[in-house]
Amino acid sequence: MNVLNWIKKYINFVLFPIKCVICNKKSQNYICNNCKNYLKSIFKPKIVDSIRYELTCVSCFEYKNEIRDIIHKFKFKNCKDIALVLSDFLYLGIKKIFKDEKIDLVTFVPIFPSSQDDLKYNHSEILAKKVAKKLGKPIKNCLKKIYNNKKQHKLSFYERQKNVKNVYKSLENFKNKKILICDDIITTGSTLLECKTELEKSGAKVLCATVAFTVLDILDK
Ligand SMILES: [Zn+2]
Repeated sequence: MNVLNWIKKYINFVLFPIKCVICNKKSQNYICNNCKNYLKSIFKPKIVDSIRYELTCVSCFEYKNEIRDIIHKFKFKNCKDIALVLSDFLYLGIKKIFKDEKIDLVTFVPIFPSSQDDLKYNHSEILAKKVAKKLGKPIKNCLKKIYNNKKQHKLSFYERQKNVKNVYKSLENFKNKKILICDDIITTGSTLLECKTELEKSGAKVLCATVAFTVLDILDK
């Protein structure tokens, strides 16, 4: 880099500092080196317990401590830019674990139309769009949410399964398509399982990927 470019870059950095989307400290990039290194150190993509979930889902981080704070900030504090960081790791997890899978489409868990206003955005859709772009695959809205059911997080395992039953409807025929559903967290897997079941009814094969997974003794609840 020549001196002039270096000076320009420095002036830009001083006048218009970028802040790390996670810790909010001044940074050269949207995520500072400290935060990036920390996330790298706990990034351990794996297939989550498929017997419990009856689905094949890759997940990158255990949902606790900083990861819980980051996802909370992304979902509820209107920090959409955090999707840049989370989708980077989600993409790396998918590339590692699903390296032999031929994915045709990427999709997301839809939200009920009226609840979009309360949430401001569908976090699952934002993540899926970024992952699709990185994978070079089309993003498609494959499902519609036809009932506005209760929020899942306060319900028990069995209540969650009941609460999502028949809530999603496939929007078209997906015969012979392998679809990847992206979401932020897998807890009991009830929501993803219901989406998967509905897509399978219309002929698709389904894989799932989430940023984080929870470790719960859900069957005891
Ligand atoms: Zn940071």
